[in-house]
Amino acid sequence: MGVDTKHSVEVIRNAAIASLEERGVTMKDIAELVYFLQKDFFPGLTEADCEEQIHHVLEKREVQNTILTGIQLDCLVEAGGAKEPLQDIIKVDDSLYGVDEVLALSILNIYGSISFTNYGYIDRLKPGILKQLNDKSSGKVHTFLDDIVGALAAASASRLAHNRK
Ligand code: MG
Repeated sequence: MGVDTKHSVEVIRNAAIASLEERGVTMKDIAELVYFLQKDFFPGLTEADCEEQIHHVLEKREVQNTILTGIQLDCLVEAGGAKEPLQDIIKVDDSLYGVDEVLALSILNIYGSISFTNYGYIDRLKPGILKQLNDKSSGKVHTFLDDIVGALAAASASRLAHNRK
């Protein structure tokens, strides 16, 4: 068993949100994905409702750790700092890699089967920010970030579904 980090929960949560924003992903971008997933089931749903769910999801330590870990790996590879062959595998987003999706499962696992269905759906359609993150011509590495953002939206959408009165 390990020991506890010296960093407070607020520091870790804020670092996770800041690293999303540094990589060009805002709360509004994620809220748009949640809205896309849930608008047909909730008449009168607003993006503000969606954003509220995202903030609840971001309170979970597993979620914060996943965001920090995945984004750190993307940045390391973008700077050319990983060892080969992993450097190239992550840089080209190799189709047989899959660790990015496995990492995103640590977010989905908390919210159960509805979140898996939602994740699969937006991963296929790639609406909004997901389309931008999958644009390989940008020179940016978003191998982990796209799955993290999809999982955050899917988890927030399932939280909304579970709390439906
Ligand atoms: Mg990916």
